[in-house]
Amino acid sequence: MSLEIEHHCPQCGGRETFWRSASTNLHLGLKTKWRCSECDYGLVRIDGEINSAA
Ligand SMILES: [Zn+2]
Repeated sequence: MSLEIEHHCPQCGGRETFWRSASTNLHLGLKTKWRCSECDYGLVRIDGEINSAA
């Protein structure tokens, strides 16, 4: 699994690089947290799907 992804950042208003900050194994899948490299906005992904904003 890569340590960075490109994703839309609602705070920056464009595609930004997100760095993985944490990962946890849940029964529904692997939960990973990502931080925007520009503004520190947080994303949560479960099994590859962007689930919610932290
Ligand atoms: Zn951002």
